[in-house]
Amino acid sequence: MTREDFIKRFITVHKCVGCGEILDYELSDSAFCDACRMGCNSALNFGCSDCFKPMRECVCMPKRLQKSGAIVLRKLFYYKKLEAYLPEMKLIFIMKGKKYKRLAEFVAKHLVPIIKEEIDTLGISEEQLVITGVPRGQMSYRANGFDQAQLLSRCIAKSMGIEYRSLLRSRISAKVQKKLDVSSREKNAKLSIRLRKNASADEKYVILIDDVVTSGSSMAACVKCLKRVGARGVLCFALASENKV
Ligand SMILES: [Zn+2]
Ligand SMILES: [Zn+2]
Repeated sequence: MTREDFIKRFITVHKCVGCGEILDYELSDSAFCDACRMGCNSALNFGCSDCFKPMRECVCMPKRLQKSGAIVLRKLFYYKKLEAYLPEMKLIFIMKGKKYKRLAEFVAKHLVPIIKEEIDTLGISEEQLVITGVPRGQMSYRANGFDQAQLLSRCIAKSMGIEYRSLLRSRISAKVQKKLDVSSREKNAKLSIRLRKNASADEKYVILIDDVVTSGSSMAACVKCLKRVGARGVLCFALASENKV
């Protein structure tokens, strides 16, 4: 046994993200125990309220995002904020609150196949792609000390062998998006999302990653910015979506 294996096996303790149960060594590359994983798998197949397809096949998009010209929005789960006891919702909350690379890798593992599906359909090669994340609001960034969409984008970039590019930033005075009503969200997102200095998408397709999509305003604002710096097209992917607006 190598030193690394030893540390992995006896020193690092992995807990199930859904229920807190300590995971067996064999399960340590999963985020869930068996029971929570089953719950999560059934959530992956939960039907969309609009198209009735399983969520991970659903391509429904909030109107705002459609208007922005995004090519597609794919997601893994239906976002059920009020059902916080569900394992997939716990996964989202833990991802937002803690810089937890193993968890980001776990989510990336589930998102990569649907990203590949889309780029295959469109006939886009890896060299024509860059990946970036919807920037976390400054206040939330300060409170948590990291950007979860960026962490996830970097994991996906690594696993797919495509370039991660930091293209967007959030303005300091931005209001907290989730505390606003839908119409103020659109305005606030427009004001708060900015391009980074010298950002360029030079005629590439951009994969845009976020954790949760609710009104679609933040993603729509990002898509518009990315098109201004030469994105040929923007493909959106999220861990969960509300699919309502
Ligand atoms: Zn569990
Ligand atoms: Zn749908």
